[in-house]
This record gives sequence, C-alpha cells and structure tokens, in this order.
Amino acid sequence: MSKKPAAIRGTNDFVKDEAARFDHVVDTFRRVARQFNFRPVHIPVFEQTSVFARSLGETTDVVSKEMYTFEDRSGDSVTLRPEFTAGIARAYISNGWQQHGLMKLSAWGPCFRYERPQKGRFRQFHQLDAEMLGAGEPMHDVELLAFGQQLLEDLGVAGNVSLQLNTLGDPDSRAAWQAALLAYFRRHEDALSADSRERLERNPLRILDSKDEGDRRVVAEAPIIDEFLTDDAKGWFDRVQGGLSVARIDFERNMRLVRGLDYYRHTAFEFVTDALGAQGTVLAGGRYDGLVEAMGGAPTPAIGWAAGIERLAMLVDGVNEDPIDVALVPMNEAAEHVGLSLLNALRSGGGVSGETFARGNMKKRMQRADASGAALALVIGESELQKKAVQVKDMSEGDQTSVAFGDLGFIGGYLAERRLRVMEGEGESMPAFSAWFAANKVRSK
Ligand code: ATP
Ligand code: MG
Repeated sequence: MSKKPAAIRGTNDFVKDEAARFDHVVDTFRRVARQFNFRPVHIPVFEQTSVFARSLGETTDVVSKEMYTFEDRSGDSVTLRPEFTAGIARAYISNGWQQHGLMKLSAWGPCFRYERPQKGRFRQFHQLDAEMLGAGEPMHDVELLAFGQQLLEDLGVAGNVSLQLNTLGDPDSRAAWQAALLAYFRRHEDALSADSRERLERNPLRILDSKDEGDRRVVAEAPIIDEFLTDDAKGWFDRVQGGLSVARIDFERNMRLVRGLDYYRHTAFEFVTDALGAQGTVLAGGRYDGLVEAMGGAPTPAIGWAAGIERLAMLVDGVNEDPIDVALVPMNEAAEHVGLSLLNALRSGGGVSGETFARGNMKKRMQRADASGAALALVIGESELQKKAVQVKDMSEGDQTSVAFGDLGFIGGYLAERRLRVMEGEGESMPAFSAWFAANKVRSK
C-alpha cells in the first residue's frame, strides 16, 4: 500500500460543524457588508512580488519572513497574497477606480503566510476584508469601525472582544514622535532585546508592540504620540472618538498599538479577545492615506480592516451543520425512481433539502433517515405507488399520514413554516405534520 498523502503543514480541512461555523462567519460578513453598502471586489490570489514588498514594506515580518514567493515558468517573481489591502490598492490603480469617487469594498478568501503553525495561526488562513478608498473624513473611520462592531455583534462574539484604538497622527506628528522614540530607545538600548535593537534601526515603532518583558518595561516609559500631535491630527482623532461614542461603540485607548509603515496615518485599531490565547487579534486595521500614492497612484485617503475567519469561527457558538429537511425512503427501485422525481420537485419548488436512503434493508434505511436529522421521512412502497401517495413520517413526533402526490406542495409549505418558527425561536410550537396537514388540507378545500 502506498503512503497516505499528507496535507501541507499549517493548512486545514474543514467539514461538518467546523465548515458550518466557517460558512456562518462568511455569510454574516456578506450580509452585514451589504447593510453597510460595502460592495464585493474580486482580486487575484497572487500578484507580482513587488506589489506586496512595496506596499507592506521590506522591514515587516510579513515581507521579510512570511511570504510565499516563487518564480513562475517565465521567471517572474510572484507571491501568494498574505493579505488583501495591497492587491486592492494595486487594482484601484491599475483600473483607474478613483473615477468612482468613494469606493467601499468587501472581499474574503484565502491568504498565505509562512508562519509557525499553532492555535489560530496557519499558513493558509482566510480573511474577511473591508476597505474604503477615497475616504477622507473622520466619519469614514467611524463607519468602518461600526461595520466591524456590527459584524462581531451579529456573530455573537462582541461580548468576548474589545476594541483598542490609537492614533498615529499625521506625517508631521508621526515624524516628531518617531524621532523622540528613537532618541529614547537609544538611551535605553542596553535594556532592549536583541530583536528590538535590530528594530531600532529598521522600524523603531515596532518596538512598541514587542512581547518581550524587558522591552515592555522600557516601552512603558516611552514618549507617547499625544505629546506630538499637531492640531490637525488631534482634531481628527477627537472627531473619530466623538463619532464612536455617538455610535455607542466602546473602545479603550491603547498607546502601544502601532502600524509600522510610513503610509499609515491617524486611526489604528484592533478588536482583541483573550479567548484564543496568544492569537487574540480577530479584526485589525487602520487608515493608510499614503499607500495608493506610494504604489504609484494618485493621493487617496483610505482606511480598512481585515479579520481572521478561522479565529472568528473558533469564537462563534451554537452554529451546527444544518440537517436536511426530508429523507426519502423508497422500498424498491420503482419507488426510488418515483420518489426521486418527487424529491426533485420539492427541491426546485420550495427550497427543500433532501437525501435518498435506499441502501440496506428497511430497518437500516429508516435508521439512517433518522440519524440524518431530517424533519420528515417520505416512505414509498408498492401500495403507495398504487395509491399515488407517500407516507409522510414526522421524525420527531413519530406520527404518519398519507399524502397524495398531488398534495406534495403541502410538504414544502409545512417545512417553510417550520423554518420560520425555528428562526423566531419558536420551533417547539410547530404542530406535528399530520395535524398540520389535516388542518391546512381542509382549509384549502
Ligand atoms: P498577528 O499579530 O496575530 O500575527 P497580524 O498583525 O499579522 O496578526 P494582520 O496582518 O493585521 O495580522 O491580519 C489581520 C487578521 O488576520 C489578524 O487579526 C488575524 O485575525 C488574521 N491572521 C493573520 N495572520 C494569520 C495566520 N497566520 N493564521 C490565522 N489568522 C491570521
Ligand atoms: Mg502576523
């Protein structure tokens, strides 16, 4: 026997409840995106390497250590996307999308980073992404954050997650802050970790989010951005904070929260949880007014966030794989043929889901139908074929009733009403099929 094929380290195969939770996160995202008028954008999974290298910056962990980069057959260097923002900015420039004015875009899909796999950290993971390009008002920051907040609320995870907010100011504030930080860290260089001493030259802001104990003690006394904010930058941050309180979005100020690159301005934020160990950031983003210009486009104020689907899916509760509505149980082959066309009519007519259980003896078939979680079983044998009727068994109540082929629409009607009541949390109040059918059949006469 040959060796079993193995998956690539840091990738996942999801089925059943795990897949259902993943899909629930995506479905919820798409619904909330629609409510906030963030329209879908579809971009490639790979780009020229320079798109990410230039936009994320050579000094970041993602570019320096984590990218999946390879030469294609023509010798061009391409990279699997580690995130969405760079590709969306590239598309914005390539296609001249500034002609559309403000663009509110949403996307989701796989991203790739060569990281050490652990809980909540994978090599192929999936992101939800929201971007606003041409968004030059503090109220745009508030709207983008409201989208994130609403998503977390609708997923039922908002209670476990808190919003941390900071400002990086405008380029002047940031340059002054950075110079002060550099001077301060140089004075305390001996107390810094080796990693941070290296960051000192390349990207001193990054020291602020170091996890090293010694670094943290130094960082605790470091100069804060507030001392360097220009009036404009302070005004911006005040308006964002004011907008958030009007929108009733709670946040905590986190002065250590930074984004390392020059094109980041003003608002930076993370929604974090302590329910996932070290991988606590579920949704993160900020304003990146300088990016499109740095990539060769026109100056374009912009803001966005990205969220890890797997991390959100680990937090959502009570989402299970949907059972099917109907289990078709034919007793012989002729009944199977007739049953299938009935089932297909239910599927196409009323959005009913169903499966056939036609293998094994009758007892096995019924057991499997039961285990499927279907609400109703449609049993068809010789006598049903002759009467042109199916036996409908209500799987939770156990009662059975005969329904003529011509009355099949009642089955769709029953299931639709049942779905509605379950959605409203009143599934228990749904009568058994036979009683419901008798009442509705009479009413329809
Ligand atoms: P972290 O600090 O956890 O490495 P990051 O700052 O690299 O996160 P971003 O680049 O801001 O993350 O990506 C946005 C979100 O995507 C993260 O908050 C997280 O939810 C998710 N994410 C990032 N990298 C991974 C990964 N390797 N596996 C799973 N999810 C990830
Ligand atoms: Mg990372």
